[in-house]
Amino acid sequence: EAKTAGRNTVRFFDPAMQAILLVRMLLESNLRLALSQNQFQLYYQVQVNADGKFLGAEALIRWWHPDRGFISPAEFIPLAEETGLIIPIGQWVLETACAQLKQWEKSAATANLSLAVNVSAKQFQLTSFVETLSEIVARHQINPALLKIELTESAILDNIDATTEKMRELKKLGIAFSMDDFGTGYSSLAYLQRLPLNQLKIDQSFVRDLSHDENDATIVRAIIALGINLGLNVIAEGVETSAQRAFLIKHSCTAFQGYLFSKPLPMEEFMSLLEQEHSAHTEQAQIGFTG
Ligand code: C2E
Ligand code: MG
Ligand code: MG
Ligand code: MG
Repeated sequence: EAKTAGRNTVRFFDPAMQAILLVRMLLESNLRLALSQNQFQLYYQVQVNADGKFLGAEALIRWWHPDRGFISPAEFIPLAEETGLIIPIGQWVLETACAQLKQWEKSAATANLSLAVNVSAKQFQLTSFVETLSEIVARHQINPALLKIELTESAILDNIDATTEKMRELKKLGIAFSMDDFGTGYSSLAYLQRLPLNQLKIDQSFVRDLSHDENDATIVRAIIALGINLGLNVIAEGVETSAQRAFLIKHSCTAFQGYLFSKPLPMEEFMSLLEQEHSAHTEQAQIGFTG
């Protein structure tokens, strides 16, 4: 009897499933070490306006595993969320991002740039989140108006009342909110109106096929119009071509992010991109002034 049950139990784990579980377990134990061994890095991807002026950046986490090399956040963030490791990882992201914002304040080329930080549902839903973030902002003495939290629709809708309340409290401090991957979830318009958002971020899946998919083009136009009507800033992510940029501008989108402008860059490279941009503008201004 017991033997049969044992055999039956074993049969659930076919070799393919076992291999997947093994990979996950390895990844999880590696992920536990990653923080203490400083294997994470933040990359920065620029956000621009229609004139190409730099508005700010989004911080994107990168994991360099000593043997496996680069592991995409698309692979490890979901696992970090399931295991709860997203809490210390997310805390590290906030600390690092705020320290970076403080650095930016010191240079004319970067002083007014905003920084968008992705926060997972699990992290945002911690009762202590407001207190934690306020403490980080105060300790780093950053201008909270330059910090923007990116939440996904599902993160917000999971627990709408508690989430809205937290957003309100943080917004009182001056912190801004962007709804990431907008269009992929199920926000009702009634909720959207009540949320203390500053920005809608059009999901890149709609931007990708803009030029040859009528449906996506229609969705993008509708999202921009919706954002404008709600008094929100609208940013498009995943902008790769000038045709996409032109379409977005034509339909009144005012902020852009994507490979067309820059890939996410490590801090030093991002800084040199900014300094180049800054001196180009300064030169232009001088030419305008003398001529
Ligand atoms: P996301 O927040 O929607 O970030 C946008 C993703 O699009 C990033 O992928 C970025 O590198 C990529 N991207 C930017 N421009 C383009 C483009 O022109 N074309 C294409 N094809 N892709 C573009 P990445 O860095 O791999 O991040 C994937 C996701 O992982 C993020 O999606 C976000 O959900 C999550 N993530 C990244 N960093 C963090 C973090 O620090 N904390 C948390 N909780 N999640 C993070
Ligand atoms: Mg994001
Ligand atoms: Mg996104
Ligand atoms: Mg995404």
